[in-house]
Amino acid sequence: MSTASPLVGVLAVQGDVREHLGVLKAVGARTLAVRRPEEIARVDALVIPGGESTTIDKLVRAFELQGPLRERLAAGMPAYGSCAGMILLADRVTDAARDQQTLGGLDITVRRNAFGRQIDSFEQDIWYAGWPEPLRAVFIRAPWVEEAGESVEVLARVSGGRAEGRIVAVRQGSLLATSFHPEVTGDVRVHAQFVEMVRMVS
Ligand code: GLN
Repeated sequence: MSTASPLVGVLAVQGDVREHLGVLKAVGARTLAVRRPEEIARVDALVIPGGESTTIDKLVRAFELQGPLRERLAAGMPAYGSCAGMILLADRVTDAARDQQTLGGLDITVRRNAFGRQIDSFEQDIWYAGWPEPLRAVFIRAPWVEEAGESVEVLARVSGGRAEGRIVAVRQGSLLATSFHPEVTGDVRVHAQFVEMVRMVS
């Protein structure tokens, strides 16, 4: 069964929740800010926003969301993680804080705060797999993907500079992740792609 207007949750414990809710609505999804286990059970899919992955991790555990989130991810719930959200979806993290945990699902190793101090926040037009026009990518103390498993499709890389060729967008089955923040640019293509992925499985 395909749902024309799936219910997409945005994990709302910390980070830029409102921006994602707005873009998801603009691309035709119904939305729900997710803070409680019962809300996790209701949604067709979940966005994990940018923010601070260590804080999101702590709050997810404090609010007893980690177990229900891991269960739904393991059962195939589509999810999109941006920046800190990418870290939360990664199976492995380098430069993690002590005791930092992830939800996992994506067979990638991410490096936190990978771009270093001088260019810790920057913007760049990048090529994104399958799209004829480049995408404006906003990086804010972003991670990059250090290693991606065989079943992970690389969607975008950085071009130029010290980070040349670093992987910044990936997909594995129903999981999508970007190091950058499409929710702040007005370009809705990444969210549209995600909602289309959700429609295919729901
Ligand atoms: N550096 C942050 C972290 O480790 C991510 C920053 C972001 O989401 N903009 O979680």
